[in-house]
Amino acid sequence: MTVVGTGVLITEAQRAGRAVPAFNVITLEHAEAIVAAASRFGRGVVLALSENAIRYHDGAAEPILAAVHALATHAETPLGIHLDHLIDDALVEEAIHGPLRPYVSSLMYDGGALPYADNLAHTQQVVDAGHAAGLWVEAELGHVGGKPGAAQSAHAPGVRTDPAEAAGFVATTGVDALAVAVGSSHAMTTRTARLDHELIAALHDALPVPLVLHGSSGVPAEELRRAVLAGMTKINIGTALNLAMTASLRDSWKADPGATDPRGYLAPARLAMRDAVLRILDELR
Ligand SMILES: [Zn+2]
Repeated sequence: MTVVGTGVLITEAQRAGRAVPAFNVITLEHAEAIVAAASRFGRGVVLALSENAIRYHDGAAEPILAAVHALATHAETPLGIHLDHLIDDALVEEAIHGPLRPYVSSLMYDGGALPYADNLAHTQQVVDAGHAAGLWVEAELGHVGGKPGAAQSAHAPGVRTDPAEAAGFVATTGVDALAVAVGSSHAMTTRTARLDHELIAALHDALPVPLVLHGSSGVPAEELRRAVLAGMTKINIGTALNLAMTASLRDSWKADPGATDPRGYLAPARLAMRDAVLRILDELR
């Protein structure tokens, strides 16, 4: 049994001055690639399934989560299983009290697009219920000052998390980790993001909990390493795997436009994702 609490991985990583990488699972091939890379590298990582990915599976979280859990159980390295960017109350309930609970180590409640007061109240409820069920809970704060109610996702370009507001949010909600807005954004296909390292240091000083960087695929390796040194403790990566998978599929179909057996093109695509994960593990060693 090698499925562990995400908090356990985080504590170990903090002790070693490192970060825990969390990789997004969309298909079973993603999960196989991540587990293969983590096992080969001998490093504990988090497998994350987002609400969006669950929607892709026709809203059925349990089949894919059960498969991910089985893969992780047979892996040679400790792995966490995380539900990411949850906003749907029914899915949160399934994760905390329902059929998904045996499969997950942690969840992220994403109230980042809600007005601050709503995000605060909702996150607090999810944290209380999650903790009672033994789950590690991450939340997000990306509210920017300005018009009341005009909150934005923490990963929209230009959005920044305010350290004083974040300190109040963490104290009130009791959340275990906070996703912060420091310059990265989701789904970037080039590694050109520049992070606000002064803000990362200020947030690290102001907050008693680990900081989480979303949208890390768009961040250059050197920027990622600096961010970890400044206190970023969980690094979420999704797009890098999708880029590797899609490039491999294009190559396969170019080489054999008549291909019909999915194994012929999915096997190299899975290997390409494994290599993408290995590269990131090497950058974050
Ligand atoms: Zn994210």
